[in-house]
Amino acid sequence: METALASTRRAKKAQTNGHTNGSANGNGNGHEPLADAPRHFRLPAAPEHCNVNTMRAIFLGTADGHTSAKREHSGILLQTKETSLLLDCGAAAARYLLAKKVEPDVPEMLWISHMHSDHTGLISQLIQSLWLRTRRAPLHIFGPAMILEQMADWLEKCLLFPELIGFPIEWHPVRPGKPFQHGPFKMTAFATEHLHNLASHFKRAYPKTCFDCYGLTIEYGSQRYVYSADLAHPVELTPALEGGKVAALMCELTHFPERELFREMAKHAVKSVWITHYPDHLARRESELKQIAKEEKFRGEVHLMHDKVAHDI
Ligand SMILES: [Zn+2]
Ligand SMILES: [Zn+2]
Repeated sequence: METALASTRRAKKAQTNGHTNGSANGNGNGHEPLADAPRHFRLPAAPEHCNVNTMRAIFLGTADGHTSAKREHSGILLQTKETSLLLDCGAAAARYLLAKKVEPDVPEMLWISHMHSDHTGLISQLIQSLWLRTRRAPLHIFGPAMILEQMADWLEKCLLFPELIGFPIEWHPVRPGKPFQHGPFKMTAFATEHLHNLASHFKRAYPKTCFDCYGLTIEYGSQRYVYSADLAHPVELTPALEGGKVAALMCELTHFPERELFREMAKHAVKSVWITHYPDHLARRESELKQIAKEEKFRGEVHLMHDKVAHDI
């Protein structure tokens, strides 16, 4: 509590110190210039376990779209030595980052898969938190073009003006199948059919609503990682899985029978599946899921993830 109050006080002071130009190195505003900012993000793991190819995944929330009494909605924080990427923000990422004393320059990137609130509901709260914790580094936000436009507008509606927050937000609309590079990550989005059914009923009446949903492939070092986002069926992962061996698939498990996932995975070179975005009734059924995977001849590792658990993937 004291920390939060202290940080608010600091932020209030910052506001009156005139850091209203959004400049990253505003000398004379009472803040450290960017050059003095920490260059590496603090990994929660023991540093001796890290090498250049280590990818750490922290599952901030593992619940699906239903409210869970114990679990938070979607959010996976990926960290490497050089960078950090938050995959969706339906979980209380701001509170987690503060509690773990992670510097406000984390995350460097945010991925928005689609507009369901269990994936986007706490984005404005995260931005507000980073502002009050006096972040300076740019935040790079990636996702479907229409969502990014509307999210920029939403932040204005939430009083989080670019001139106010003290760090630039750089919006990067992406297109499925078109690779893009950011820092050490080469990324490629793939479109899922998660919202197709809904679109067939509502798109005509609601043309300003975005019905796109994109998953993401991340290439880092010699490894490939895949984030499913939400799916209609695991067959939609095919474009991401057929491009080479996948070190880790971070996959939802709520919109299709569990068996279908492993049946599909058995056709591809997937070293490990990290299950997230699943209903409460699966929480104690990891061994059963592993048994189903075996029956479907999926030979990779199966991990059922829990909130706030970090793993090298
Ligand atoms: Zn969802
Ligand atoms: Zn969804």
